[in-house]
Amino acid sequence: MKRRTVLGGLLAAGVSSSLGRHSRAATAAPGRRDHRVIAVEEACQIPEIHAALKRLAGNNPPSMKTGPIAGPFVAPLLDLGEGRVRAMDADGVDVQVLSITSPGVQLFDAAEAVTLAALANDRMMETVRKYPGRFGALATLAPQDPAASARELDRAITKLGMNGAIVNSHTNGEYLDDPKFWPLFEAAEALDTPIYIHPREPSPGLEGPLWMPGFIVGWAYGVETGTHALRLISAGVFDRFPKLQIVLGHMGEGLPFFYDRLNNRFRFETAFSPRSVKLQKPPADYLKSNFHVTTSGMNHWAPLAATLATLGIERVMYAIDYPMENQAGEVAALAAFPLSAGDRRALCETNAARVFKLKA
Ligand code: MN
Repeated sequence: MKRRTVLGGLLAAGVSSSLGRHSRAATAAPGRRDHRVIAVEEACQIPEIHAALKRLAGNNPPSMKTGPIAGPFVAPLLDLGEGRVRAMDADGVDVQVLSITSPGVQLFDAAEAVTLAALANDRMMETVRKYPGRFGALATLAPQDPAASARELDRAITKLGMNGAIVNSHTNGEYLDDPKFWPLFEAAEALDTPIYIHPREPSPGLEGPLWMPGFIVGWAYGVETGTHALRLISAGVFDRFPKLQIVLGHMGEGLPFFYDRLNNRFRFETAFSPRSVKLQKPPADYLKSNFHVTTSGMNHWAPLAATLATLGIERVMYAIDYPMENQAGEVAALAAFPLSAGDRRALCETNAARVFKLKA
C-alpha cells in the first residue's frame, strides 16, 4: 500500500486532528515546547531489593527470572538523585513517574515482599519530595499477600501521596483475574487510582514456545502481559469494578490492533462455549472504558496512529522505559511524530497529569 493510502485510511478513521496538520506539525524544538514531557514508565531500584534479588540468583546468570537486572542498567536504576535529574535535563524530560523495575518484589516470599514493597515506596517518595515537580511514583505491591497489598496501596495513596501502583504481570504463575487478588482492585477503585500492569518474563505455563532468545523482551513480554489484560476482561473484573483503570505499556501490548477481531470472535466462540463467558459489553470495548496505554519503547509512528484512532487521544500517554531505552532517542522520536499541538500536549502532559493526579 502506498503511504498516501495508509494515511488516507487513518484520516478516515478519525486521527485527522493529528495528521491534517502534518505539513506544519511542529517537531517540538528544544526549549520551545509549550508543554511538559511527562514519562510514565520509568524504572528505578533500591539497594535492598537489588541485594535480595542477587541472593535469589545464586549461581545463575542474573535475569528478571532469577535475580536482578544486570549490566549497564544497574547504576542508573539505583540512582534516585542527581544523576537521574541531570539525565532528564539533558534529554528533555520534565517529569518521570517512577516505579521499581520488574519484577518488583514478586519473586520473594510474602513477608519479605511486603516489607520490601513498603521500603521501596518510602524511598521513592523521598526522591519525589526532594525534587518538587520532577517526579511522581507508582507503588510497589506484593500480590503474594492480597490483603496486605490492598493496605499498602491505601497507605501509598492516602499517606504517602503516590500516583498509582504497578504490578509486574504474574506472581508465581498466578494472574490477577483470580478473585483472591480482587481486594487490590476494590482498593484501587475506591481510591480512584490506576494500576499499571508491567511485563515480566512469561509464566511457567507460557514460557515454552515463547522462550526465543532475541525475542523475549520484544515479543514474549507483550504476549504475556496482553494475555494478562484479556484475562481480567474475561473474568468480568470490569463489570465488578466498573471505575477501575488499568494502564498497559508498549502500545497496549498489542491489544488495540486486535480490537475488531477480539469482539467479533468472542461473540462467535462464546455462542458455542460449554462455559459461556457473560460480559456486559463486547470484550475489547473495555479497552475504551477501563484501560490507558503508553508508548514505552514503541517509537514507530504507524502503531501510535492506529492506537490513537482505536482508543482516542485521551487514553494514550507517553512513556520511555528509562533506563532500558535510550531516553534522548525516545524524546527525539516523540518530537518527530506528526501530532497536532493539542494532541501532543495531551499525549505528553495532560493525560498523565489527569490519570496519575500529578501535581503541577
Ligand atoms: Mn518498563
